[in-house]
Amino acid sequence: MLDADFFHRWMTRATDLVSREADRLTDLDAAIGDADHGSNMRRGFAAVTTALAEEPPKTPGAVLTRAGRQLISTVGGASGPLYGTLLRRTGKALGDAPAVTEQDLAQALGEGVAAVAQLGGAQAGDKTMLDALLPAAEALGTSFGAAREAADAGALATVPMRARKGRASYLGERSIGHQDPGATSAALLITALADTAGGAA
Ligand code: ADP
Ligand code: MG
Repeated sequence: MLDADFFHRWMTRATDLVSREADRLTDLDAAIGDADHGSNMRRGFAAVTTALAEEPPKTPGAVLTRAGRQLISTVGGASGPLYGTLLRRTGKALGDAPAVTEQDLAQALGEGVAAVAQLGGAQAGDKTMLDALLPAAEALGTSFGAAREAADAGALATVPMRARKGRASYLGERSIGHQDPGATSAALLITALADTAGGAA
């Protein structure tokens, strides 16, 4: 079973990975956006870690809803409300159980990803974070490792896509040939989850 501590460690691991990869995320956003994705994510997750440390929530659902709320209030760019909605809706779907199964999480993450699609109006193939999140949520029904592989493959698959949502869509054809920054950070979030499940520090 996955308890509140597991979810807290997931968010801490995500904060570490996002901070380590922030320059790469910003470089990707410089190519097809406005070069702020790394700093948005780093600032947002740092605030999440601080908020969780100040008052550690007692259930898995509460950890994710608190993290999502913090992202929404800290990050101004498109990614703040979208990631915030992902975590809040996933947390809400987990309810107030003190511990949840991997299947519960797979189901809840599916609901969170659907909420992101609804909020942003994007679907698979639009070259957004959804191209990593949709296959990851699906593969989480199999295993954490499968979810990580699906997210990485999904992020890579955005390279030949033409952006249809967000800032990158303004570039039209010129968005082709670059990996989407949000799909890349989404793969980091799922990697952090698999690392936490696998016992990585
Ligand atoms: P901004 O575009 O406001 O500068 P960020 O640079 O932080 O925000 O985030 C950009 C990322 O947000 C994109 O790479 C994309 O993955 C994601 N994104 C943008 N618009 C949407 C949308 N409508 N639906 C899903 N994801 C989106
Ligand atoms: Mg940007």
